[in-house]
Amino acid sequence: MTDSRSDCLFCKIVTGEVPAEVVREGERTLAFRDINPQAPTHVLIVPREHYPDVASAGAAGVGVVDEIAREAREVARAEGIAESGYRLVFNTGPGAGQTVFHVHGHLLGGRGLQWPPG
Ligand code: C5P
Repeated sequence: MTDSRSDCLFCKIVTGEVPAEVVREGERTLAFRDINPQAPTHVLIVPREHYPDVASAGAAGVGVVDEIAREAREVARAEGIAESGYRLVFNTGPGAGQTVFHVHGHLLGGRGLQWPPG
């Protein structure tokens, strides 16, 4: 399931049809600020190709989850949070709070983060 979806919000952000504050453009990924930030840095990192969640993206075996992790490292460096620490979260399924079914890593940092998360 790797095609762009006409009914997918993040596919529309990837194509520019829906605006977003882009912070980094990778060959296979796009990173943009979350519209409802939960921390001083809250960036979403998405593959340009459509996968509904991190499980399906990982199962595809095409390295896209690795690429998201690499891009998260670069965004964290650019945001100045690489040293203080950050969290990379993939909500997976409605029960875990996933609301947009195009895989995205939430990069959160810039404040103290509690564990366990709510
Ligand atoms: O993990 P989950 O699917 O809930 O995350 C979706 C995220 O997408 C939310 O944090 C929401 O604020 C964000 N969002 C966004 N821009 C939109 C719609 C949703 O950044 N236009």
